[in-house]
Amino acid sequence: MEQRGRFAPSPTGELHLGNARTALLSWLWSRSLGGSYAMRVEDIDRPRVRPLLAEQQLEELRWLGLDWDGAPVFQSRRTHLYEEALRRLGDQVYPCFCSRAEIAASASAPHGDEGPRYPGTCARLSREQRAERQKVRAPALRLRVPPGEIAFTDQILGPQSFDVQAMTGDFVLRRADGIFAYQLAVAVDDGEMGITQVLRGADLVTSTPRQILLHRLLGNALPRWAHAPLVLSAKGERLSKRDRSLSLSTLRAGGADPRQLVADLARLSGIDCGIACSPAQIIGGFSLARIPRAAARLGDPP
Ligand code: GLU
Repeated sequence: MEQRGRFAPSPTGELHLGNARTALLSWLWSRSLGGSYAMRVEDIDRPRVRPLLAEQQLEELRWLGLDWDGAPVFQSRRTHLYEEALRRLGDQVYPCFCSRAEIAASASAPHGDEGPRYPGTCARLSREQRAERQKVRAPALRLRVPPGEIAFTDQILGPQSFDVQAMTGDFVLRRADGIFAYQLAVAVDDGEMGITQVLRGADLVTSTPRQILLHRLLGNALPRWAHAPLVLSAKGERLSKRDRSLSLSTLRAGGADPRQLVADLARLSGIDCGIACSPAQIIGGFSLARIPRAAARLGDPP
């Protein structure tokens, strides 16, 4: 079977060196296996998307020396696929009328990465109660999540196991404003695009069990996952889209040499190619096993 990887930038903020490193590693993983590589623009969160940023991001990835097979895929043009997935999920999906404040007030349980666990308030509404509430408020749609651990072997971090019901509860697939949730769009797209391997930042590792659940319910083959430890600033802080000093556009405008950036990012990932190299030059030296398990810290600027 052909191996197929992808990079999935969100045009909601400029790409920074951490994103560039994820892109580079996911590209290297695919290319080192002779696989294909897809580019997917995750632009469904319309209120947060910045027009023109997608093109800029793609241009910056090309500038770094990355390429992809076929035209980039835009999530904003694929909402029919997410609608269809919702239809296929059928009764596993239910409308939820709770406001954020109501959920926060009822939360006594663990906080997942997207706020408090949803306690399932609307899961048991009768048909009449739903009809009544629908008159006042547009609902979000949530997935009924079965209890129990969902386990997978991360190709970098090793064995992982999460109880999604205990951590997150029934999670949102479509928001009340009609926007499809990241979890649904990603599972649908990775399945539909034939993605066999997903390498992304370790901040998304807790999303993977939710996506596994969706893949199973939708009958998709499961990709393999590898979550790369994050890149921290020289001060040890998490890189943020708001901090523009390490954004690719700032570095590029300041005259940075992309081959030097690639060499720096490669070094953080266990590959030494001297002071400058292209991504293509390090395909042979790439191995997931060389990527350090701890967060990587950028060296002080020269
Ligand atoms: N669009 C997500 C991001 O930029 C990445 C999603 C993924 O790789 O699954 O953080």
